[in-house]
Amino acid sequence: MIEQSILEITSALSRANNIVIVPHKGPDGDAIGSTLALYHFLKEKGHHVNVISPNDYPDFLKWLPGQEDILIYEKDYMICKPLIADADIIFTLDFNDLSRTGDMQDPLTEATATFIMIDHHPEPATYAPHTYSDATMSSTCQMVYQFIEKLRSVKSITPEIATCLYTGIMTDTGSFRFRSTSSQTHKVIADLIEKGADNAKIHQQIYDTSSESRLKLLGVALQNLRVNKELRTAYITLSQEELDKNNFKKGDTEGFVNYGLSLEGIVFAAIFIEHKVDGIIKISFRSKGSFNVNEFARAHFHGGGHVNAAGGKSTISLEETIVKFNSTIPQYSEQLSL
Ligand code: 5GP
Ligand code: MN
Repeated sequence: MIEQSILEITSALSRANNIVIVPHKGPDGDAIGSTLALYHFLKEKGHHVNVISPNDYPDFLKWLPGQEDILIYEKDYMICKPLIADADIIFTLDFNDLSRTGDMQDPLTEATATFIMIDHHPEPATYAPHTYSDATMSSTCQMVYQFIEKLRSVKSITPEIATCLYTGIMTDTGSFRFRSTSSQTHKVIADLIEKGADNAKIHQQIYDTSSESRLKLLGVALQNLRVNKELRTAYITLSQEELDKNNFKKGDTEGFVNYGLSLEGIVFAAIFIEHKVDGIIKISFRSKGSFNVNEFARAHFHGGGHVNAAGGKSTISLEETIVKFNSTIPQYSEQLSL
């Protein structure tokens, strides 16, 4: 983000009365962490701020400071629509295209506000005159920290802001183990701890709060694990029936896909989860090394994401989706096989 843009943003902020902050649909720790951090930051600066999430978010995030103020568009669209229409500035965080907000895309497209995008996904769309996009960044939360730094306001980071930012960096880096974790990430994390993020407590809140049914569902997922050694690929399926039997709640399957990738020799992992109500199979892709799952998801499963973490969907049945997946991966045998 160039200095000129920062000057323009500073000037736009000084004039803004109403600010709306939007994460992507199906928001994760980074999306909710970054929006809430910015929410606290801008509120302290005296702005009138609303966070509007396209839909609900997992229970393991429902302790973050300020989360009780989040409006859910899917539920409260009658309240949200005028807020979007009346906003002077709309921040869009952790996504690169308005289509990632689902039904919110229409009111956002019609909005007269100045858009500011802060995001770490490749190939950003061009809807925001101020686009702070960097695909080398670990997380949007790290970028929000650096955005605050560019506004020369690091001193304004409260324990609440530090907690939200720490959470998003931690979840998007798989607790600081993915390649996107840089020395700069650790410097930011160190400062967030100094500013009041209780790191041990945050890890506990996110990772050590499993319900019995979630662990049982993990058991089913692991039973369903299939491995293609030749193409160094592993995948998991979960049918609606299996989810129902184990009292599935939003967020329960978070991280399951990584078990496939933890197998020795596996470089490509996927999880296929049936959502009968929406008539779709939601898919997560993960990879190690150079296999580009963003391109794979875009090319075959109406999705996208990053080089090593992406998502997509399919509107055919779970069984048919698996057949399609298994017949697609041999096209990549040069990259996947040893
Ligand atoms: P997850 O598998 O955790 O849902 O998503 C992994 C990454 O892929 C995230 O960065 C997310 O933003 C992106 N992603 C997930 N689903 C989709 C999708 O349907 N379309 C696009 N473009 N990106 C997605
Ligand atoms: Mn992210």
